[in-house]
Amino acid sequence: MQWHLIIDFDGTISCEDTTDRVLQRFALPGWEDIEADWIAGRIGSRECMARQIGLLRATPEAFDAFVSELALDPGFSSLLALCRRNGIPATIVSDGLDRTIHALLRRHGVHGLPVFANRLEHLHGDRWRLSSPHAAASCVSGTCKCGVAGAVGLSSAILIGDGRSDFCLAGQAGFVLAKNSLISHCEDNAAPHLPFRDLAEATGLLTALFEAGGLFAPRKPAVRNVASQSAFTQPALNTHAVAPRVRTRAAGCQLS
Ligand SMILES: [Mg+2]
Ligand SMILES: [Zn+2]
Repeated sequence: MQWHLIIDFDGTISCEDTTDRVLQRFALPGWEDIEADWIAGRIGSRECMARQIGLLRATPEAFDAFVSELALDPGFSSLLALCRRNGIPATIVSDGLDRTIHALLRRHGVHGLPVFANRLEHLHGDRWRLSSPHAAASCVSGTCKCGVAGAVGLSSAILIGDGRSDFCLAGQAGFVLAKNSLISHCEDNAAPHLPFRDLAEATGLLTALFEAGGLFAPRKPAVRNVASQSAFTQPALNTHAVAPRVRTRAAGCQLS
């Protein structure tokens, strides 16, 4: 058994929430009201985004040109290089838009990385539809990250994430690198984790774990630098609950 990296996209690989940027730029008025329903816990992210994408008005050319210019964390390439050196498979698992992710990966010359995300489908002209091929019936997210990670084995997954879309998996992954609101979520639920501010720091942490002998086989409770938490004994979480809402948006890359 070996580790498998599961990497969130928005706010983790990208500096900002790219779906928010798309909506701000191209959506008809009303998307903020749908967002408010989501923040208040009245709807899940799958319904929220599907309705918001119904308000999107952009030609494919305008969409791709806009999203291709959004910023990625400059440490992303070093994280991928670390994975290659150590033979660690990496997969992007996102509750954002597949077209945005693929456009940004293309622009940055990243090829062959598996992506699981919501599917943004062009209908005609400037109209779009969202589908969620990686949703789970019991989960309000568009992409149920525990469902996707379950295919590689939850206990061998290292999650790198920053926010609400990662809560689903954080309680079940073998280990978590956490940013922003995912840090307090892991603390509150005694999930074994290390905090990071940007992907350069995350890469440094993983380098120490993989290459300096600090790690460790999956499911082995050998992570001693995670406060006093007993690794891998965290209680089961109700990760699919809608409320309470703690929104992590547009935190930006925190470059040190
Ligand atoms: Mg995120
Ligand atoms: Zn889920």
